[in-house]
Amino acid sequence: MLIDGHGRTVNYLRVSVTERCNFRCQYCMPEKPFSWVPRENLLSFEELFLFMKVAIDEGVNKIRITGGEPLLREGLDTFIKMIHDYKPDIDLALTTNAFLLPQTAQRLKDAGLKRLNISLDSLKPEVAQQIAQKDVLEQVLKGIDKALEVGLGVKINMVPLKGINDDEILDIIEYCKERNIKVRFIEYMENAHASKDIEGMHGREILEKVKERHTIKALGREGARPSFNYILDDGYEFGLIDPHKHDFCENCNRIRLTAEGNLIPCLYFDEAMSIAESVKKGDIQGAADVLAQVLKDKPKENRWSEDNPNEENISTRAFYETGG
Ligand code: SAM
Ligand code: SF4
Repeated sequence: MLIDGHGRTVNYLRVSVTERCNFRCQYCMPEKPFSWVPRENLLSFEELFLFMKVAIDEGVNKIRITGGEPLLREGLDTFIKMIHDYKPDIDLALTTNAFLLPQTAQRLKDAGLKRLNISLDSLKPEVAQQIAQKDVLEQVLKGIDKALEVGLGVKINMVPLKGINDDEILDIIEYCKERNIKVRFIEYMENAHASKDIEGMHGREILEKVKERHTIKALGREGARPSFNYILDDGYEFGLIDPHKHDFCENCNRIRLTAEGNLIPCLYFDEAMSIAESVKKGDIQGAADVLAQVLKDKPKENRWSEDNPNEENISTRAFYETGG
């Protein structure tokens, strides 16, 4: 079992397979970064997998593939199959913007993928375009339909932004309710890479919007999941991911691996240790030692704050590097 320096059990590994993306979401990667990680610095799927096997053997039972946009990385279905074949009962999920799903969903399902989290910030083409800085909505909706058609589990992620898509919170609930899928509203997390022109909504403001049409009841946090769940008067359940809240980190169960092999203990902080050298040499003990050190150093909590979100509480970590 993997236990961190604060006594929390870590059983969840998020693996970013690329930092590249075909969208330019204002809250994540509004402009193409000054330089991408050179392709030769990316770990191969075999190298990533070598570390993942160490983590799985030590107790990781949930893996999420993310990015950047993970569907941009060639051979992703083969990578998913490697993981699935090694441990078929692993909870294997992927986070995607869905743009490439119409042509990839079936292959991902056949490879052993179980679930998808899909980002859907608007149901209006012009607003989706304003956020992603590309005309994306039609293709994203097709991607969601295809994922459901092939039998993948789907959850929707929405990041509400003031004056941009905050009037669509109720519409997104209706869209998800009609398809019997769950939506999680994510508080915008301030970071140095995002557009300076956007303002996120706090959890309580998001809930106020929902209350304009519904009575809601709090259900509580779902185990170690970051999402706090609520139920509507008609029985529909949705989640709120509220990292600005102080109890958010108490049950944190995750670590993150980037495409170039940095093992990151917390989404907020810059600290990381590299497993690249170990996996390139096939040094399993070296990789296990880095994992142990990262767990020991995992911070107690992030520094996003409800009281002062816009000044010193800005993370310098890029979401497109860590995979969110
Ligand atoms: N490209 C994929 C996607 O968009 O779903 C996967 C990577 S993306 C970094 C993972 C998640 O992080 C998405 O749901 C996205 O909405 C969320 N995200 C990115 N930047 C964020 C921010 N500044 N605050 C809150 N959520 C953010
Ligand atoms: Fe790309 Fe996802 Fe970031 Fe949007 S949130 S820019 S889709 S990585």
